[in-house]
Amino acid sequence: MSRFWSDTVRRLTPYVPGEQPKLANLVKLNTNENPYAPSPRVLEALRAAIDDTLRLYPDPNADLLKQAIAKNFGVVPQQVFTGNGSDEVLAHIFPALLRQPHPILFPDITYSFYPVYCGLFGIEYHTVPLTDAFEIRVDDYLQPNGGIILANPNAPTGCALSLENIERLLDANRDSVVVIDEAYVDFGAQSSISLIGRYPNLLVVQTLSKSRSLAGLRVGYALGHADLIEALERVKNSFNSYPLDRLALAGAIAAFDDKDHFEKTRRAIIASRERLVAGLVELGFEVLPSSANFVFARHARRDAGELALALRGRGIIVRHFRQPRIEQFLRITVGTDAQCETLLAGLREILETA
Ligand code: PMP
Repeated sequence: MSRFWSDTVRRLTPYVPGEQPKLANLVKLNTNENPYAPSPRVLEALRAAIDDTLRLYPDPNADLLKQAIAKNFGVVPQQVFTGNGSDEVLAHIFPALLRQPHPILFPDITYSFYPVYCGLFGIEYHTVPLTDAFEIRVDDYLQPNGGIILANPNAPTGCALSLENIERLLDANRDSVVVIDEAYVDFGAQSSISLIGRYPNLLVVQTLSKSRSLAGLRVGYALGHADLIEALERVKNSFNSYPLDRLALAGAIAAFDDKDHFEKTRRAIIASRERLVAGLVELGFEVLPSSANFVFARHARRDAGELALALRGRGIIVRHFRQPRIEQFLRITVGTDAQCETLLAGLREILETA
């Protein structure tokens, strides 16, 4: 704290990202990164982009990337917004579309960045409790609101909401914006992108960080009606004209060009997840049904904080949230089969000691 801080800064409660440890050789299962390398075509495109054109600014409108995304999803480029990671896309969505006379709604347990953006932009919100099974119940959202934001699958639970339920929510909520954050959708949930043509109040956010193995490149995007996209462009062009650099643009375009790699790696993660879940259940964990590249699990007898600490002692890091309702859960990223095996072996050892 310093006397030079503005009131705004004093009042902020910033988001705390998962740890990025400096130690090598850790089994890092704490931030939902993809264990597989990005497509070789991405790496090739990145190398090719390293030349003297780096003295020039990148395309502020990211036109070629928008075209690639639009083609991939069967929409037009005017329905696409791109940003520096989906976190930045979300950061623009809050003041552009969710600062309204009524409070916005999101679940009590969800991506913890949402309340942080509300704090930054002075947006009021109500949290809607998940059910005892940690599910989103659409009926609970049928109340006056200034907008709704849901992660599907939800984080950190991994539980998915069906397309049918999302459509029910959209139908009942035509006068405010519904944002569906699909950071993890490619690991088993149904995307809402097919609904954007019919619902001008729907905005779908995705990222290249998870299913395209590019967390380090920082590329995210939103799809929705051109009017919603224009609102985001207005905020973006009042903040930073060049959020995506030349390398990010080149790499992201190449990522959409390699469907085989995308399919192969996401299927491998889904298969590993099923094996990991079976292993955890065998060790006495309850595991929530996951449609993501992570699982959310609690042990019948052992404290989650202690388990996380003991795993860390073995060079394995997972995420533990000291937060009401979920303090007995561990969020474990699905790694390679070998990493999952190391995790299960570590847990087996820890559980054998009293
Ligand atoms: N949404 C959710 C639900 C997430 O878990 C994350 C990752 N922390 C993001 C968005 C942001 O991801 P990125 O900025 O890497 O696209």
